[in-house]
Amino acid sequence: MARIETLIVGGGIGGLAAALALSKAGRSVHVLERSAEFGEIGAGLQLAPNATRILARLGVMDEIAKHAVSPSRLVWMDAIKERKITEIDLGAPFRERYGHPYIVMHRSDLLQVLLDACRASKLITLEASKGATEIEDCGDFARVRCADGSVYEANIVVGADGLHSKVRGLISDDKPICAEYVAYRGTLPMQEMSAHAGLDNVVMWVGPDMHFVQYPIRRAELYNQVAVFRSKRYTPDSDDWGTVEEFDAHFAQAGQYVQNCAKLMWRDRRWPMYDREPMLNWVRNRVVLLGDAAHPMLQYIAQGACQAIEDAACLADCIAGSSSDPMSGLKAYEGLRAHQAARVQITARAMGRFFHMAGAAAEVRNTMIALRPATDYSHLDWLYGDRSAARS
Ligand SMILES: Cc1cc2nc3c(=O)[nH]c(=O)nc-3n(C[C@H](O)[C@H](O)[C@H](O)COP(=O)(O)OP(=O)(O)OC[C@H]3O[C@@H](n4cnc5c(N)ncnc54)[C@H](O)[C@@H]3O)c2cc1C
Repeated sequence: MARIETLIVGGGIGGLAAALALSKAGRSVHVLERSAEFGEIGAGLQLAPNATRILARLGVMDEIAKHAVSPSRLVWMDAIKERKITEIDLGAPFRERYGHPYIVMHRSDLLQVLLDACRASKLITLEASKGATEIEDCGDFARVRCADGSVYEANIVVGADGLHSKVRGLISDDKPICAEYVAYRGTLPMQEMSAHAGLDNVVMWVGPDMHFVQYPIRRAELYNQVAVFRSKRYTPDSDDWGTVEEFDAHFAQAGQYVQNCAKLMWRDRRWPMYDREPMLNWVRNRVVLLGDAAHPMLQYIAQGACQAIEDAACLADCIAGSSSDPMSGLKAYEGLRAHQAARVQITARAMGRFFHMAGAAAEVRNTMIALRPATDYSHLDWLYGDRSAARS
């Protein structure tokens, strides 16, 4: 069996970004994807400058710009009183500070751009319908078995197989943690969205145990909405929670505009919210984790895919910088990324509690953050700033 230089398990946003970054560093890569086709389900995605900086470096930003929207503001609204709480200016001062834009786009458009770039590379090969079922650490190489009986051996195996990662099982026996919240999400043709919340805005309505996000995607041809709430019926041994009836009952407490928009949501599928406890060990010999496989997080600060993209660039840099000793490259990657990703996971949980306050606590929150200027970015520098200098 010919040994593969780098084998990536999982062809989502993280896996394809990693394939592209590694190929740009001169490595050959083979990607295994469990689904019959490479693709994304779900709707919109917010990409902050920590991700767009890397997408620019990977040479895909021009293509992405053809599909994306660059909003001018991120607005927080009180979902009950329908009053503005605060906003972040995403215009010129933001661009100047971070050097790259905040964009919103359809996640399938991003995956397609990454997939096209991977297909155009001579160093990348891609295989669908290849669900990895067993990962074996063989010391200076690793072996991956797939459900169809095929076996692969590689010098480095990257586990980019998401929240329920098989590859992670080689490193940890921890389990995903349910937040007891559920998301409904979907898009509408813009002409069906008569009362959108501004084509220039990402709007986040926050309320007791709930939030509701709206923004335009695909050159503003589609309007994306995400409704999130806490289910009172959650039990770990049942799937009968976060139902459509609960959704309607929970959003009945919101103001009229939010209620009307929530009624337009798709109801055929729901996404229970999971994360895991932060883990600082991402490497076992030649096996390494990336993206949600390494640091699944609640999506409340819109960073899961952004962090996966950051992982991709860092992993490629670290492997390229240690070609004679791959283990030291993988450990360098873990050292540079694991604490930062853990901080993002913890911040996402904390921001959830901040959004979902009720009553007097919500009033205090609203009053205090109303005082911050829209161009105060001091709390975002650690997240959106350029961290590449740390690895040079
Ligand atoms: C409601 C919601 C909104 C979100 N909004 C944002 C946002 O605005 N911005 C943001 O940055 N993030 C957001 N996220 C998070 C983001 O979607 C994830 O963090 C991101 O998709 C992780 O990418 P990944 O490639 O690591 O994992 P995944 O997207 O889960 O991809 C894993 C891939 O591996 C494949 N796979 C799984 N198991 C196997 C196996 N055994 N063998 C082979 N292949 C396998 C899967 O089919 C899949 O293609 C959101 C998440 C949710 C739920």
